[in-house]
Amino acid sequence: MERAAGAIVGSAVGDALGAPFEFGPAGAFSARFPALGTGDEMSGGAGWHAGEATDDTQMAVHVAESLLEHDGLDLPDIFARFLRWAADDPKDIGLQTEDVLTRGLPWDQAAAAHYRSSHRAAGNGSLMRATPSAVYFAPEGQRATMDAARRIAALTHGDPAAWEGTAIFHDLVRVALSGADPLKALPRALAAVHPDHRERYAVVLAPDWHPRQATESNGAVWPCLGSAVWALRTTRGYEEAIRAAIDLGGDTDTVAAVTGGLAGAVYGLTAIPAGWAEPLHVPLPGSGGRVLRLAHLLDLARRLAT
Ligand SMILES: [Mg+2]
Repeated sequence: MERAAGAIVGSAVGDALGAPFEFGPAGAFSARFPALGTGDEMSGGAGWHAGEATDDTQMAVHVAESLLEHDGLDLPDIFARFLRWAADDPKDIGLQTEDVLTRGLPWDQAAAAHYRSSHRAAGNGSLMRATPSAVYFAPEGQRATMDAARRIAALTHGDPAAWEGTAIFHDLVRVALSGADPLKALPRALAAVHPDHRERYAVVLAPDWHPRQATESNGAVWPCLGSAVWALRTTRGYEEAIRAAIDLGGDTDTVAAVTGGLAGAVYGLTAIPAGWAEPLHVPLPGSGGRVLRLAHLLDLARRLAT
């Protein structure tokens, strides 16, 4: 429970903390907040209030509430929630996600149609929202949680590369929630990846890979997942991992949301600075104007994990 709450809150914190630095240069976070351990970094900026979560957490909450209300995976329902969310003027929305959710096509056709016409659909937008489903499906084992990840990813992402990256994330969170080391579980996770995609993930998840070796921006699924795993591997705690992730620059809210889901599952809720968690709030378009606070996220985590 401590780790599940760490994952859910940890991902939302990473999202909110990274948002003011999105598309900025590397090192911007440490330049603004040089000292570790002050906890006052959650101060907003660039149009974001202190503690305000972005689309990453908003979509994650919609997935979480669908899983809980339907007692399992109901793909048309998750898609319907995404549609209501996209139609309710979210403050930010990924380009690919927006295109898929505004096509007017059914849940099982929209993402595939986008992929056929764009040939570019391996953004990190299915990975960014995967922490609640990773917590929910963890007890069902590796195969089931990876399969659920792929199916939820496919609602908005037609490229199987996005499915496989999200599936790896689900499995690493599953391992972390059990108290084991997700880095040691990488070979077994990679072995469960579709063969067409295994080699490319093996590159970005290798122990000697560094985010500067990425061949795409970290808005793509491969370097986004690779950067989150790198941030976990090269640091010793939740706070350090999040700082490292945001300091990479680029798609900072999403890289930090993914890092935070993983690092939160590893280190648990108590590792998250209170000054980061307490200001959290998630305005939730598509929900009749609700705004979720920390207590709501903790309640979601508890229900997802039981
Ligand atoms: Mg975002």
